[in-house]
Amino acid sequence: MQTTAEIAYFSMEVALDARMPTYSGGLGVLAGDTLRTAADLGVPMVAVCLLHRRGYFRQTLGPDGEQHEAPEDWPVEQLLEPLPGQVTVAVAGRDVRLRGWRYDVRGCRGHVVPVIFLDSRLEDNDEAARTLTDQLYGGDARYRLSQEILLGVGGVRMLRLLGFGGIRRFHMNEGHAALLTLELLEEQHRGNGHNGVGEQEIEKVREQCVFTTHTPVPAGHDQFPLELAAELLGRGRAPKLRDVFAIDVYRQVLRSDQRFAPPRDALDHDLMLNMTYVALNLSRHVNGVAHSHGEISRLMFAEYSVDAITNGVHAATWIAPPMAAVLDRHVPGWQADNYSLRYALAIPLAEIAEAHAVAKRELLEHVLATTGRRLEPTRFTLGFARRATAYKRPDLLFADLERLRAIARCHGGLQVLYAGKAHPADAGGKALIRDVYAAARTLRDDGIDVVWLPDYDTALAAKLVSGVDVWLNTPLPPNEASGTSGMKAAMNGVPSLSTLDGWWIEGHLEGLTGWAIGAASPGDGDDAEAIRARDAASLYDKLEHAVLPCFLDPGDAFLEVRRHAIALNGAFFNSQRMLQQYLQRAYA
Ligand SMILES: *Cc1c(COP(=O)(O)O)cnc(C)c1O
Repeated sequence: MQTTAEIAYFSMEVALDARMPTYSGGLGVLAGDTLRTAADLGVPMVAVCLLHRRGYFRQTLGPDGEQHEAPEDWPVEQLLEPLPGQVTVAVAGRDVRLRGWRYDVRGCRGHVVPVIFLDSRLEDNDEAARTLTDQLYGGDARYRLSQEILLGVGGVRMLRLLGFGGIRRFHMNEGHAALLTLELLEEQHRGNGHNGVGEQEIEKVREQCVFTTHTPVPAGHDQFPLELAAELLGRGRAPKLRDVFAIDVYRQVLRSDQRFAPPRDALDHDLMLNMTYVALNLSRHVNGVAHSHGEISRLMFAEYSVDAITNGVHAATWIAPPMAAVLDRHVPGWQADNYSLRYALAIPLAEIAEAHAVAKRELLEHVLATTGRRLEPTRFTLGFARRATAYKRPDLLFADLERLRAIARCHGGLQVLYAGKAHPADAGGKALIRDVYAAARTLRDDGIDVVWLPDYDTALAAKLVSGVDVWLNTPLPPNEASGTSGMKAAMNGVPSLSTLDGWWIEGHLEGLTGWAIGAASPGDGDDAEAIRARDAASLYDKLEHAVLPCFLDPGDAFLEVRRHAIALNGAFFNSQRMLQQYLQRAYA
């Protein structure tokens, strides 16, 4: 293995291969797309993740949309190369041994980015330690923090053991990997023989670290009771945590910023070790993942300088074969140079129409094969697929069933495809899947087909984003940091109909790349119910007066939107542009 990497990319999840369930959603897809792009561009990068031998979970759905969860075991030995050697990390005073497994991401010109997966399933570990790298986002706070210690501390040690000596930058993709900073500090202590933490040591860590935050609300940030952290990391480190990681800063910021203040009583709880603050304090470059998310992060973390690098997706991965073939004919070289997608503006509309029709047919065949539901290839079809959770509002489309029926009746019917898993602990998310099922049952008699496809993963995502007619997204602003599924859809000529949140604030050109629902920020003083009613009304208005008339227009209106989605948004919201910005602003 080449060990000349200069950038080490740490992520708790990564989506690399449809057979490897080592991710749960957007964060892991972003990590995978970043690594594929680094390989394409020849960037000297190595990545670290936990093995997640039992995956996230496999989702099946009962007749009323009840979610059932099962472990998703996968053939590690067939897909990864075992690496020699082990590292040891102390968790709660017990040694946990880790071995490494390697997966090579090979770029379009042959450059390889190795990904190291850390695995604690070893004979020498006790039973509890053996299962620590099994399940992504599983277990309780103790399990999660143990995993983060293994990822951060164990990851750095594994890279050193494997001989990666020239790493200049450690990139933390979200706060889960923040404890790598602790290992970088302690490496200096081992070098100089004392264990004080001075400005000099901190500065040396900071010089090396880059942090991408993905969460626009304080409650979403990864944090653990300081007492638990002291127990798992070791009492000797607790004072260090307090000094270096500026635990108290977090409380001050929460107190001073009313807009993002949590309920009052949350402030009176025990001190927390907040991984976002760990990473903020110890990084030279911090960024949010879209312009609006950068602004919100600057409000949340007023005393830090926070840049914004808008996410992108890996075009060659996400553009479906029929559309890729059209691009090959008209924009040769688009895979190696995504900016050239701009020239899609010259592609004959008939070819875009035909490529999309093929993708749609394939999607509907998949729907028939997996659910027995036969949908109509010419009928207008909406797609909605993402984690099932409250702020994404998958039920917004059903806020007024009478209105939806009337719209469908006057416009040749409606089909809606859903997919998405709810986190096992998210009861509200699970209830939303059942709500969509209930609405689907009611609407079936009215010629509106609503189908929730089980077990959302990247393979299903690829079919959905390329095969539906319009990509629906209804997050409650400002909760969506970026969102990337709409970018995948755009590249496939599938425009978005979305609330103005995350990337869509930047990608939206009304009637040209898609359509907006509601206003950019909720009106002052509106309560949750008023906002919901207003957004639902806006969704229906747009469907009735803009999207469906455009779709049903006998001329080329809708195909023009498809073409602009590819050319304007594909040329920008790709991971080549994103990684080049990281290279210039974060890694340089
Ligand atoms: C792209 C993708 C996501 C992220 O989509 P968002 O729009 O950010 O919610 C999640 N899960 C899978 C399987 C994906 O392919």
